[in-house]
Amino acid sequence: MKTLSTLIILLTVNVLVLGCAPNTKENEMQQFITSHVKKVRPLQKEQSLAWWDAATTGKSEDYDRASELTLKIRQIYSDPREFEFLKDSKASGQVKDAALARQLDVLYRSYLRNQMEPELLKTIVSLSTEIEENFSTFRGTIAGEKVTDNEIKEILKTQTDSGQRNQAWLASKQVGSAVAEDLVRLIKLRNQAATKLGFENYHTMALALVEQEVEELDKIFAELYELTNEPFVALKADLDEKLAANCGVEISELKPWHYHDPFFQETPMVYALDLDVYYADKDIKKLAAEFYAGIGLNVESVLANSDLYEREGKNPHAFCTDIDKEGDVRILCNIKSNESWMETTLHELGHAVYDKYHDPEVPYLLRQPAHAFTTEAVAMFFGRLSRNPAWMQRMLGLSDQQRREIEEVSDRYMQLKQLIFARWAMVMYNFEKALYADPDQDLNALWWRMVEQYQLVKKPEGRDAPDWAAKIHFTVAPCYYHNYMLGELLASQLHHYLVYKIFKLKSDENVSYVGQAKAGAFMRKKVFEAGDLYHWNEMIDRATGEPLTAKYFVAQFVK
Ligand SMILES: [Zn+2]
Repeated sequence: MKTLSTLIILLTVNVLVLGCAPNTKENEMQQFITSHVKKVRPLQKEQSLAWWDAATTGKSEDYDRASELTLKIRQIYSDPREFEFLKDSKASGQVKDAALARQLDVLYRSYLRNQMEPELLKTIVSLSTEIEENFSTFRGTIAGEKVTDNEIKEILKTQTDSGQRNQAWLASKQVGSAVAEDLVRLIKLRNQAATKLGFENYHTMALALVEQEVEELDKIFAELYELTNEPFVALKADLDEKLAANCGVEISELKPWHYHDPFFQETPMVYALDLDVYYADKDIKKLAAEFYAGIGLNVESVLANSDLYEREGKNPHAFCTDIDKEGDVRILCNIKSNESWMETTLHELGHAVYDKYHDPEVPYLLRQPAHAFTTEAVAMFFGRLSRNPAWMQRMLGLSDQQRREIEEVSDRYMQLKQLIFARWAMVMYNFEKALYADPDQDLNALWWRMVEQYQLVKKPEGRDAPDWAAKIHFTVAPCYYHNYMLGELLASQLHHYLVYKIFKLKSDENVSYVGQAKAGAFMRKKVFEAGDLYHWNEMIDRATGEPLTAKYFVAQFVK
């Protein structure tokens, strides 16, 4: 490995020989990037392949190899001298070339997140692993009998006896009490690490590391709150009426356990919607490939490298991975012929086309999505089609009558699903922000204040328990949850732009996207190709003519 001083000497020589000195800092930066990419590129490819092998085989030696490579890469990014160099380059303000400055920024944040004190980092990792293990082994009890999460969910979905629902709900919260103390300790340790790196707290640091600012997110969430307030009140009144009737109680007697999951984050199953019948004898892979080809995005090469069906030892979930940033993009699925796997396959292929169609001219370090939530948005945009009646009619060859049947329930269901999720995401975002700002406050009371305000669910009388701590995301994926909501907002913003500005339609009622090459071309040119060349909000502005907003999500789902 060349040291920095050698690099600088080489550079000075270069400048002298060439006889012009455009900008020493920029030259230094370019040298640094070249040598850095030379180091990390082969390792990152090897690491991606190792994780892929691990996920597809389930073999422990593959997992070990993957972890080793991850550690090796982390070591590069934790080098304090290189970090200082990047910090100085940034502070100098001399790296002005746009693509170079962008790469410097990406590098600076990658190094910054790995500058935690090794001892403190070790304590944080081991405590969070301990809590995570506690989560996976803890079983709540009903009348002294242990119950699994699935059993709790089943009771909340189907039971009509309020007493039994109450017991199941209480059982779901017991893990909160079991982990709360450790979790508060973990949050304080995370804050400690963040303040040492010059941040106010861990929440502001986590956001800054992915180019998000509290004020910016506050504004988006406030807009979403305002725009969904009235419709949510109406929708929830309607829902409460049905839930109360189902359990034979008065609306005024409804408690948190009358909703169909422990946090009221999902849609209660009161509006029947079974789309599986339409997908029962269909080839999901073929449908997805045909659809993407029809909009001019070829996924054949992706599918050829992918692992699509269930197998012993294989990861049971789904994901997409960009192996080499040179076109080897793969998805892992466990496809079955039902609606949920249609959604998932379209979703993962959405991530895949984003990765596949980055402009190869864009520098290696920027050949990635602009943000985790922008690729999520594209994936959601395509995933939503599996429930879109117009799309289903075109792709599955349904009759008008069948389409009308789907429309009757699916629009209502989508509206409920999105509104319920939006209000729940507000609880998660605002609570987490306040949690890191002051972990010593009365968190139990804070949680219920937010649940009452955003979800309109009343705290059970006298309840004072760490119900918030039962949500595993605070432990395993801190300060990330809001990105799911931002993804939904952007998916709707892209949809709106395509329908009203590109297709120039008056309504999105009949939009199926099937065969609409203009949609694929727009995504490719305006979203995928740029990769991470711009800040996420600049990319959105360039693509849709305005920064991220909640308006179009509301326009699409609140009718
Ligand atoms: Zn995704």
